[in-house]
Amino acid sequence: MSLNRDLIERDLRVLWHPCSQMKDYEWLPLIPIRRGDGVWLEDFEGRRYLDAVSSWWVNLFGHGNPRIGDAIRGQLEELEHVILAGFTHEPVVRLSEMLVKATPPGLDRCFFADNGSSAVEVALKMSFHYWRNVGRNDKTRFVTLSNSYHGETLGALAVGDVALYKETYGPLLMEPVTVPSPDCFHRAPGESWESHSRKTFEAMESCLAEHAETVCAVIVEPLVQCAGNMRMYDPVYLELLKDACQRHDIHLIADEIAVGFGRTGTLFACEQAGISPDFMCLSKGLTGGFLPLSVVVTSEAIYQAFYDDYASLKAFLHSHSYTGNPLGCAAAIATLGIFRDEDVLGRNRALSQHMAGSIADLVDHPHVGEIRQHGMILAIEMVKDKARRVPFAWQERRGLAVYRHGLSNGVLLRPLGNVVYFMPPYVIREDEIDLMASVARAGIELATSS
Ligand SMILES: *Cc1c(COP(=O)(O)O)cnc(C)c1O
Repeated sequence: MSLNRDLIERDLRVLWHPCSQMKDYEWLPLIPIRRGDGVWLEDFEGRRYLDAVSSWWVNLFGHGNPRIGDAIRGQLEELEHVILAGFTHEPVVRLSEMLVKATPPGLDRCFFADNGSSAVEVALKMSFHYWRNVGRNDKTRFVTLSNSYHGETLGALAVGDVALYKETYGPLLMEPVTVPSPDCFHRAPGESWESHSRKTFEAMESCLAEHAETVCAVIVEPLVQCAGNMRMYDPVYLELLKDACQRHDIHLIADEIAVGFGRTGTLFACEQAGISPDFMCLSKGLTGGFLPLSVVVTSEAIYQAFYDDYASLKAFLHSHSYTGNPLGCAAAIATLGIFRDEDVLGRNRALSQHMAGSIADLVDHPHVGEIRQHGMILAIEMVKDKARRVPFAWQERRGLAVYRHGLSNGVLLRPLGNVVYFMPPYVIREDEIDLMASVARAGIELATSS
């Protein structure tokens, strides 16, 4: 009896999967997963897949991590959930204390939600509302970078710029001011990341100067535009941006939902620029990939602009049912505990280097336009014409060929368009990196051979 097939049949009768053309599942079978252990996922027939994408970038310390699992089990004995308006609990207080300590200086207040998009909505609303509360009613707009991604709810979608997800819903969305991304893929041959990032900042500077009166905040993904095909830039851009935001009285929202918790080499990507944003959005790795939870960390000054008698109507009356869920908080406390007790970032430096070496030879491949990396994120861009950096047409679905090759060879790679990337859990071993790299290499050969 094929347990895989049974589950697939039941699934396709009742489910509608995320980010999927369901018709694709007629020829591209779903993979039912029975259990996970470390970097490995296992289906019902004993086939194993190395999770090179950390299950959509959420997993940090492996599937079934015992320390995080035990923390959730322990919390389950005490309290599964309680309303967070008018009530509080130990895990949410403890986690907030840890986050205030771990985030850059000046981020001292935690507002919880339950997924990344909701955290982005919270930051946008809070920034807008702050300016109203201090009498700046003319500030109503947001500045965003081209090729950015901030989630799928309407507000978050509006400040993103990935056409594939956004275009259809255009008529429903508020209009941000969009500034060209510092994306270093487009730098001149031989130019450094720093020089290119500095140059692209000129457009941001003039935009902020022009719109300072009407702009609430700039929202960015620090260092890596993950959903935007893992495009990367230099920390100097964030340094310049923080300075300009301060000069023009504009908030800076750092969406570290994907890059936070060690992904780029530092605990938070903003640290590489030595900056503190006005809002930092965190989710994904926050619970080590175990439970949905998100948080916006902001400054005491912003908090104080809402603090008044009830009748002033300045309060932030935003909420989600599962805000600050105790089980999620317990998972997050355990996750931050691992960072505190183990040299995770030091270990990741070695793993990042090994990852770079494992695939370095591919840089000479005629259809590899670039290999780029920030810490534990490495991306390989497949191109049609290497010299002129002409992309393959999206209709050819070259990435999908790599995905299928990966699955037949025990590695879950999930390319974004023509970009194959590694973003594995931090518990990956060097021999597992070598496996991931050799399967990716063969997949890229195959996908670009015709
Ligand atoms: C994933 C992601 C989001 C959205 O988070 P969800 O939990 O999927 O809603 C927002 N911003 C960035 C940078 C992300 O990578």
